[in-house]
Amino acid sequence: MKGTEIIVKALKEEGVDTIFGYPGGQAVDIFDALYGEQDIEVILPRHEQALIHAADGYARSTGKVGVCLVTSGPGATNLVTGIATANYDSVPLVCITGQVPLGLMGNDAFQEVDIVGITNSICKYAVTVRTREELPRILKEAFYIARTGRPGPVVVDVPKDIQQAEGSDVYPDEVSMRGYKPNQSVHVGQIKKAVSMLKKAKRPLFLIGGGVNISGANEEMKQLAELTGVPVITTIMGKGAIPSTHRLYLGNIGIHGSYAANHAVSECDVLFSIGTRFNDRITGKISEFAKNAKIIHIDIDSASISKNIVVDIPIVADAKLAIEKLLEYVTPLKNEKWVEQLMQWKEEYPITMENYEGLTPEKIIRYINDHFEKPIVTTDVGQNQLWATQYLKLEGGRSFLTSGGLGTMGYGFPAAIGAKIGNPDSTVIAISGDGGMQMNIQELATAVALELPLILIVLNNGYLGNVRQWQELFYQKRYSNTCLRYRKSCESNCTDKSKCCPKYTPDFVKLAESYEAYGMRISKEEEIAEAFAYALEHKNAPTVIECVIEREANVFPIVPTGKTLDDMIMD
Ligand code: FAD
Repeated sequence: MKGTEIIVKALKEEGVDTIFGYPGGQAVDIFDALYGEQDIEVILPRHEQALIHAADGYARSTGKVGVCLVTSGPGATNLVTGIATANYDSVPLVCITGQVPLGLMGNDAFQEVDIVGITNSICKYAVTVRTREELPRILKEAFYIARTGRPGPVVVDVPKDIQQAEGSDVYPDEVSMRGYKPNQSVHVGQIKKAVSMLKKAKRPLFLIGGGVNISGANEEMKQLAELTGVPVITTIMGKGAIPSTHRLYLGNIGIHGSYAANHAVSECDVLFSIGTRFNDRITGKISEFAKNAKIIHIDIDSASISKNIVVDIPIVADAKLAIEKLLEYVTPLKNEKWVEQLMQWKEEYPITMENYEGLTPEKIIRYINDHFEKPIVTTDVGQNQLWATQYLKLEGGRSFLTSGGLGTMGYGFPAAIGAKIGNPDSTVIAISGDGGMQMNIQELATAVALELPLILIVLNNGYLGNVRQWQELFYQKRYSNTCLRYRKSCESNCTDKSKCCPKYTPDFVKLAESYEAYGMRISKEEEIAEAFAYALEHKNAPTVIECVIEREANVFPIVPTGKTLDDMIMD
């Protein structure tokens, strides 16, 4: 078999039926091997960055490994942001990059880059295949590494001469790597210690992160909360770990977390965290984080434990296996007063945009909550994302896709394409801002070509809103380079929104129509229902709903940089 043929065989053996690819000189042989292939569909996005976000959306929403196939040089470097995005958020991807022939490597050959060197620090594993003989083993290992342990992206760089070389047609059944043995079991002794600490607690709290959604432990997590009666807060990646409407759920922690959730962390005496890496967006000032609490931490990756926050009881395990084990030992706890206090905070300090008139993101998202059953929602990055994390109600995992760790603008729309491909029967809604939407807007062509009925919400405030909010609150309203309505003829240092601003470009409705997608612009609350009804009419094409919102609406609460979670600015 040629190298290209064993690549196709590997994809089939790994159960891959969809790949996201963009051809070029050093990948053309692999595309040739895929020509006419019935079992593998190749999706052709219009830019490699969008391609990898689509593969990422496919992977996050299905739990399968997303596969990218691109050429060398710019094809490979265009994947870089998506690789880092997936790496932060633990998304399993295998990225196959074509490479110049072995003999030309290091010669500054046409479209040659050292993609392994470039991506080493932002992926789980990166390797250049050096011989035809090792190609099947490396591919097998790539899929194994991507999907096991803490999932992540793997880069396999395949020089053109290895693609063309003939060799064995055997694809291995098993993997054996001395240096990589992800933990499969749960240490019962540690589980018992954790249960004993929980039982002694007067103010216990579950902090649930993305690891619970990744492991699919949602049902078990709900049982654990209900059986113990311990309240639950989530990171934004853990949102959906238990239903957002659950009586024990307090909301998200973090710089944009809810009052009840953030105060609960400061007040609890045992913080039982599962599948979170305690990043700075959730801890605020580290020395003050959960200062009254003993901390238990379950995580599949030992490197996540005591990295940012030193914990008292570490447990290295898969969240689902660990929670199943916990369910064998826990009993109902008596902490009614504590729960009452938290529920009172939740009621007294709800997150809301009621002080803004007209069309607000809150109203749009509440419409989604009320009218769609288990949609998959993707977001871009910025205010659109934060409002979605605050107002969206979720009932499970794999239905909320957002770039949490890297915060990659341009993620939301292509991720929705991948999610829809992976879940053709689900309604898929992408919530973006006008800034992020323009970072991968060319994907309207892909969505139209694939006849995908996506609902694309563009919250248009004419600003890079999240940064503008920071400028408003912490930089004396010096709106440096955040206005997207700016034209050269504008007055410099303009901060007066009542002035007659230039027209917004692009016209998102006309732009959608130019791609043969559909578009509608709304600016009033009463138009929300009509816009969604219009979108749902189109079964074979995406619809852009441009929502013209209050220009200077802010995301509250917000914790200023370096402050503690208790220092939230509420309004
Ligand atoms: P991840 O980063 O996804 O980490 C998952 C953890 O689970 C890892 O430690 C991993 O090893 C582990 N894991 C993986 N698989 C398993 C398994 N099978 N079993 C057990 N463990 C497993 N986030 C907030 O929460 N609040 C905010 O206010 C906030 N504000 C933000 C603002 C902006 C503008 C942006 C862009 C992001 C913001 N974020 C916020 C997101 C933030 O940057 C992080 O992405 C997020 O907090 C990480 O949550 P996490 O640690 O739970 O999940």
